Amino acid sequence: MARNINSCKQCRRAGEKLFLKGERCLGPKCAFTRRSFAPGMHGNARQRRLSDYGVQLRAKQKAKLIYGLLEKQFRRYIGLAQKADNTGFALLRLLETRLDNIVYRTGMASSHAEARQLVTHGHVKVNGVKSSIPSYQCRAGDKIELEKGHEVKEKPTSEMPGWLTSDGKTATVGELSSRDQIDTNLNEQLIIEFYTR
Ligand code: ZN
Repeated sequence: MARNINSCKQCRRAGEKLFLKGERCLGPKCAFTRRSFAPGMHGNARQRRLSDYGVQLRAKQKAKLIYGLLEKQFRRYIGLAQKADNTGFALLRLLETRLDNIVYRTGMASSHAEARQLVTHGHVKVNGVKSSIPSYQCRAGDKIELEKGHEVKEKPTSEMPGWLTSDGKTATVGELSSRDQIDTNLNEQLIIEFYTR
């Protein structure tokens, strides 16, 4: 099965630290720290101007990497979002409320990849019931917790998005109803443009 290979080379392509491997990006091991230009033979050549297409492509590739999705899955979200009034916000909302993303955002895992693994390996409970589907779409009121024996990593509540609350053990999903609740430097308009060319 196809899958994304997470590495800091992706940070170099995106031109920013993506934290695909969690803390690694903070240290000297992140390839973007060592070589802060695009990978490949011409990566260090004088920056060429990207076409509109190129800019849109980079924006959607970045989103796919961050949420650990493949093209087919990502396209599915685009299709769902296009049924909503505000396509851009609907897209981000679908991505943000995925179970694996919430496990990551609440600090139960140090990277998206780790969060996804906690879910697929059956260590995550939603409303008291084990749920091993990373794409499960959480709703306001859902309570997320790790199985006993899996400690919750400390993440200052100040770093958690406002629509999530946690008592250190159980996280509760709140209402996610506006774009400014989502702290991301993704440009959802460019992503939508890519798919509506
Ligand atoms: Zn990195």
